[in-house]
Amino acid sequence: ENYARSLEIIEGPLMSGMNYVGDLFGAGKMFLPQVVKSARVMKKAVARLLPYLEAEKQAGDARSAGKILMATVKGDVHDIGKNIVGVVLACNNYEVVDLGVMTPATKILEEAIRQKVDIIGLSGLITPSLEEMAHVAAEMKKQGFTLPLLIGGATTSEMHTSVKIAPAYDGPVIHVRDASRAVGVVSALLAQGATGSFMQTQNERYEELRRKHFTSRAADRFISLQQARANRRQLRWNNYEPTKPSFIGNRLFAGYSLEEISHYIDWTFFFHAWKLAGKYPAILDDPQKGVEARKLLDDALEMLEQIIKNNWLKANGVVGFYPANAIGDSIQLYAENSKPLQMFHFLRNQELKESGTHNLCLSDFIAPAASGVRDYMGFFAVTVGIGVEECVAKFSKENDDYSAIMVKILADRLAEAFAELLHVMVRKELWGYSPDEDMDLEALLHEEYQGIRPAPGYPACPEHSEKETLFKLLNAGKAGISLTENFAMYPGAAVSGFYFAHPESRYFNVGRINNDQLEDYAHRKNMSLTDAKHWLASNLND
Ligand code: SAH
Repeated sequence: ENYARSLEIIEGPLMSGMNYVGDLFGAGKMFLPQVVKSARVMKKAVARLLPYLEAEKQAGDARSAGKILMATVKGDVHDIGKNIVGVVLACNNYEVVDLGVMTPATKILEEAIRQKVDIIGLSGLITPSLEEMAHVAAEMKKQGFTLPLLIGGATTSEMHTSVKIAPAYDGPVIHVRDASRAVGVVSALLAQGATGSFMQTQNERYEELRRKHFTSRAADRFISLQQARANRRQLRWNNYEPTKPSFIGNRLFAGYSLEEISHYIDWTFFFHAWKLAGKYPAILDDPQKGVEARKLLDDALEMLEQIIKNNWLKANGVVGFYPANAIGDSIQLYAENSKPLQMFHFLRNQELKESGTHNLCLSDFIAPAASGVRDYMGFFAVTVGIGVEECVAKFSKENDDYSAIMVKILADRLAEAFAELLHVMVRKELWGYSPDEDMDLEALLHEEYQGIRPAPGYPACPEHSEKETLFKLLNAGKAGISLTENFAMYPGAAVSGFYFAHPESRYFNVGRINNDQLEDYAHRKNMSLTDAKHWLASNLND
C-alpha cells in the first residue's frame, strides 16, 4: 500500500513534466526525438502505476484535455507523421483514438460519433489521398458534422486544404504542417470553438490563399499539347547504340542482405524524418542539434544492428528489363520475340518555355518506334517492409512508441537504400551500360551516375495508377509487395519505378496540364474522363 501511495505521489509530477516537455517542444526549445523518448518514460511509468490507480482512473476522463481521432485515409498506408502527432498530443494530455491506416470515410465518421471525439485528424502521403480527404470533408457536411477537421501528411498543403477541402465542409478545417503545430491548433480550437479569433484568422488566411490560387493560376502560361509535343526533347537516335541488358524479363531478389543494404542509407533523410533538418554528417556537429543528432544516430545504429542480426525485416526486390520503343508520349514494351507487351503512358510538361528549353515527357528518353532502333527500359520494385508490423506490435505492447517509430523510419530508409544499391547493380552488371562506374555514396546520392530511376507518383510521372501496369509486368506480388485501391504500395516501406539509361535522361516536373492532355491521356489509357480527372486531380489546370 505504501508502494501504491508513493506511486500516486509521483504521478502528478509525471503529468506536469510531460506538459512541460510539450510546451518546450511547441516553443521550438526541444527536439522531436526527445519528446518521443520522454513520452515513452511517461507511458511506461503510467502503465506501471495503472493497477494502483484504478480509483483515480474513474475520474481519469476529467484529466484528458480533449479527444482526438486520427486516421490515415482509405488507400494510404503511411502513418509515421500521424503516429508522431499522436505521441505529441498524448504528451499534452489529449486522448488519441488512432484508427490506423487505410481507414474508409464511413469508419472514421462512425467512430467519431461512437467515441464522442472533439476533433478529427486525417493523414495521407500520396496525391490520391488528397481526393479522399476532400471526400471525407464532403461526407462530414452531408451527415451534419460540426467537428473541426485537421489535415496533415506529406502531399497535403495549406493551399490544397484551403482550395479543395475547406470549401467542401462547413465546420473548421485546418492544415497542420507538422507535429510541432498540432498542440497549438488543437488547444486553440478546443478553447475558442469554431467562431473564435483563431478560426477567424485562419479563415481569412484561407480566403486569401484561394484568391491567390485563382489569380496566380490565370497568370501562368500554358501551351497546347500539340505545341508541347512539337517542343519535345529530340535526341539523336541514328548513331545511338543501346546496351542490351544481361537478361530480358524479371529477376527476383528475395531476402537480400540487410547488412549490405544498410551501407547505402541516406542519413540526411533519416534525420529529416525525425524533424532534425540538416545535412548528414555535418548535423552531428551542429551547435544546436548536434548532441541530439548523435544520440538519435546511436539509437538508430543500435536498432539497425538488431534488425540485421535477428532478421527482423526482410528485403525483397524485383528488377525487369524489356525491349521498348516510344510511341508518342507512351512507351511500348516487347517480349524478346517482339511480341507487344505492356504499354506505359506518360505525361508531358505543358508550360510555356523559353526558347531552347523543352517540354519534357519520359518517353523522350526512349528511341521512338519510327527510329528503327531497338531500345530498352528497366523496371524495379523493392521493399524492406516485411516484418515491420510485427516489430511495431511488439514495441507498442511494451509502450515503446519511440522504438515503434524508429523501426518504421529505418525500414523506409532501408527501402530507399535498397533501391540505390540495386540501381548500382543495374548500371554496372544487370543492364551493364556503365560497367566501370566507381562512385562513393556521396556521388551516388547526388545522382552523378548515368541514367535515372523515376518513381510513379513523383514529378516526372505523377500519375499513380501506372503502378498497376508496373506491378503486373514485374509480378511484384512475388516479392511480397502489393497496391491498395489508390495505388499506395504495401508494405509502406517500398519503392518502385522505371530505369532509363540514356545519358541525356533527367528528372523534371510535369506540373499542371490542360484539358487537351487530360482527354488525350484518358483516351490512351482507355479510361473514362471521370476516372482520368480523378487520378490527375493534382495536375489539372482548373
Ligand atoms: N536517398 C533518398 C531518396 C532519394 S529520393 C532517401 O533515402 O530517401 C530520389 C528518388 O526520387 C529518385 O531516385 C527517383 O526515384 C525519385 N525522383 C526524384 N525526382 C523525381 C522526379 N522529378 N520524377 C520522378 N521521380 C523522381
